[in-house]
Amino acid sequence: MKKETACIHPLIDQRSKEFGVTVPINTAVAYEYAGNEELKYPGFLSTPNQKRLGMIVARLEGAQYGIAFSSGMSAITCSILAMIKAGDHVIFAKEIYGGTMKFAEEELIQRGAACSFAKTNLKNLELCQQKNTRAVFIESPSNPLLNISDLKAISAWAKAQGIVTIIDNTFATPVNQQPLDMGIDIVVHSGTKYLGGHNDLMFGAIATNNEAYYQDILAMAKIYGGALDAASCYMAERSIKTLGLRVKQQNDSANRIAHFLEEHPKVKQVYYPGLISHPKHATAARQMLGFGGIVSFEIEQSAGTSDHFLPRLKVIQHALSLGGVESLISVPVLTSHAGLKPAQRQELGINDSLLRLSVGIENTEDLIEDLNTALEELSS
Ligand code: PLP
Repeated sequence: MKKETACIHPLIDQRSKEFGVTVPINTAVAYEYAGNEELKYPGFLSTPNQKRLGMIVARLEGAQYGIAFSSGMSAITCSILAMIKAGDHVIFAKEIYGGTMKFAEEELIQRGAACSFAKTNLKNLELCQQKNTRAVFIESPSNPLLNISDLKAISAWAKAQGIVTIIDNTFATPVNQQPLDMGIDIVVHSGTKYLGGHNDLMFGAIATNNEAYYQDILAMAKIYGGALDAASCYMAERSIKTLGLRVKQQNDSANRIAHFLEEHPKVKQVYYPGLISHPKHATAARQMLGFGGIVSFEIEQSAGTSDHFLPRLKVIQHALSLGGVESLISVPVLTSHAGLKPAQRQELGINDSLLRLSVGIENTEDLIEDLNTALEELSS
């Protein structure tokens, strides 16, 4: 099945004539014992809807196993905790979501694990590797500069060293990128973003083909919690039906917007993996089916700051989060990367004038006009 069809019929083999063409919301979290058989919905996986949602994300990622969580962070923390123990070492990509970074820097260290942060090319990974390196955690494309890691090269290297690879595939979505096909072991998602897609639902998910990893993550989930209620699971399932369509539109729009911005005299720099000027464009083109809906850019300092630019936008909203149907724009130094020290931000190339635009599914011409009008109103 092509991705748009898979989003609508992810569990085609489990259709039931008993219900309509959508599934019922089954809120029961307790089931009578029918005999000595194993409980159908034990502990953490307590409703049929939650079980289904895990399977749906697994199918979209080409995985055998999947688990739905109540947030991206619960999926991320349970996956990492399941893979490491005290005395292990984990390599994290330097550019990762702030919450994951905080977890690595503050929580993992307290649990007796060591962490390194690296730019994710093989040379750096090799330099960071220690005898006790157990896992590598990456994001590609990364936030907010849309850096691309070579997934095949990293997974091949890690496999040869016996290191587990985990990728946060939130930015790409399973429509644009299939990391497990490229040898990555575990995919994690903040479903709050593209999978949910409407800025009204928080959830997370993991997907893997490794049964032992699945069982270990499930065991962590049972301890730490983060189950998702049946109604939210239904909402997520409903949202995923339009994921293929939404992402296709977001890819097309973001690509056109990135080209428009690149040509604009008041724009200093544009970061988008679909642009030939992106340093990893060739890698992105090889491993992604679409370049995604996020475009980051810097306005020429002489033209003004984000304080001048953002209030002039009428359609695009100045708000945090990404991946939804509404186009949102944010300032990474004040939001996702506010917790970093100025030197850390400088090292990553994240400066005060950087803006991150999450392109929604509005008409592309309207979005370009909105950006153009706001840019034109800045001083020349
Ligand atoms: N991963 C990425 C790439 C994110 O952008 C976010 C949230 O912004 C998360 C994970 C955390 O997800 P959640 O907010 O669903 O806990």
